[in-house]
Amino acid sequence: MLCSILLLDEAGERLLVGAAPSLPAFFNAAVHGRPVQGSQGACAQAVLTRSRVIVEDIRRASGWTEYRDLALRARLGSCWTDPIYGAGGKVLGTFAIYHREARLPGAAHIALIEQAARLAGIAIEQAQAAAALRAGEARFRSLYDHAPVALWEQDWSAVRAALAELELSGVDDLGRYLQANASQLRRLAGLVRIVDVNAAALAQVGAAPGRHEAPRLTLAQNFDAAAMPSFALALTALAQGQHFFACEGSFERLDGTVRLNELTLLVMPGHAHSLDFVIVSTLDVTERRRLHDELSVLATTDFLTGLPNRREFMRRLEDEHARLRRDVGGCAAVLLLDVDHFKRINDEHGHAAGDAVLRQLGAALREGQRQIDVLGRIGGEEFALLLPGTAPAEAAVLAERLRQRVAQTPMGRGDGAALAVTVSIGIAALDGGEGGGEAALRRADQALYCAKRGGRNRVALAGEETVCEAGKEADRPGVQVPAASG
Ligand code: GH3
Ligand code: MG
Ligand code: MG
Repeated sequence: MLCSILLLDEAGERLLVGAAPSLPAFFNAAVHGRPVQGSQGACAQAVLTRSRVIVEDIRRASGWTEYRDLALRARLGSCWTDPIYGAGGKVLGTFAIYHREARLPGAAHIALIEQAARLAGIAIEQAQAAAALRAGEARFRSLYDHAPVALWEQDWSAVRAALAELELSGVDDLGRYLQANASQLRRLAGLVRIVDVNAAALAQVGAAPGRHEAPRLTLAQNFDAAAMPSFALALTALAQGQHFFACEGSFERLDGTVRLNELTLLVMPGHAHSLDFVIVSTLDVTERRRLHDELSVLATTDFLTGLPNRREFMRRLEDEHARLRRDVGGCAAVLLLDVDHFKRINDEHGHAAGDAVLRQLGAALREGQRQIDVLGRIGGEEFALLLPGTAPAEAAVLAERLRQRVAQTPMGRGDGAALAVTVSIGIAALDGGEGGGEAALRRADQALYCAKRGGRNRVALAGEETVCEAGKEADRPGVQVPAASG
């Protein structure tokens, strides 16, 4: 007997030589890859008819013309072939027995062919399953290795055991415990084992490509010293049974540079109890954060003076108003400062000189401010100052001091020459009442209008009795009340 196993290709269109060690190579080569449809070959017929094909005498077989010469050259006399079925009944290929002479199968031969075909079916399906598994594994390995996001496979089972011990020893508020025990937190961090990392993770920390680098990595790459509070939060989340944790935190590259990461931690399904299969993905957001910070500075800062712009000042003013709503009895004051006859400065000395004056004015006003005060440039030559915790009378004294300082500070034109500049200031109280910061600023504006009308270079207080009679001279201090506060 000479046996062969032919396999039907994936498309079910061609027969491929699976195993036929006793048949001559030229025969196998000629058979390999022949289409099934339209072929008179015994094996093709077995596939097409899903039944056994017996060719007793190849020499005399009708319709065997296609293979006769080939078979005779291989000294084959007869061919019996059975389809090989998979468990689901699908035809996987054929099992054939050839003899040198013309021959019909007996009952024992038939039993042998059937058994061999069945065995071959099992073997083929197992081999196909194994190949599919290998292909699947290779696919996921490739996905893991080439994913554009850094992936860290970690084993937290030792951490889990340590947490269980802590609980047994009576620690019931883990978050508070970790906050108070930095050394315990570091010890727990040391128990996280990095099992594997992908190429993006190696690149992120500046390690050379290659799996062998993984053992060099420590948890500092995910949670450096500065990120320990995030690690504590992750621990608390996992201890509470959460399977997912996300945070932003710093990490260290192998060269010691500190970068910012966006990190998500996922306990893989089925490993929630053991915590031995945790996937952490990280994304270096250092550049993104830098751009974001730059943009938010641009969006909130006046480029000429470097002070908060109108939008930012109003935001801070509304924040203060919201705080005063909660803080019964609290107070604050808003100052609105406007340069007197600023248009003349531009007209007589040029726009650049005007800009130089605005810059110096910003610096002069900023001097001596408390940390909590907010000074902003809210218009062309208008500045506003928010003084939290300051009553109007106190604010009036401060405004007067500012007015004097400006009047006594020569402002450079940018070309060596200096100008005398004065400001008028309107003051309004800010409280937690209706209207908020906008209304307070409007009242300050009315007071400012009053100061302007009163002769400029003076201070006016909205809705209060005269604190000090308005002086006509530009260098005499003055605090004035609007004619009608509305
Ligand atoms: P008043 O005492 O009534 O406030 O007179 P004023 O001339 O200061 O008031 P007005 O509002 O008529 O003029 C303000 C001028 O400020 C007009 C505008 O050209 C100028 N200005 C606004 N923004 C800038 C800026 O960024 N740079 C310069 N150089 N000038 C500016
Ligand atoms: Mg103005
Ligand atoms: Mg002005």
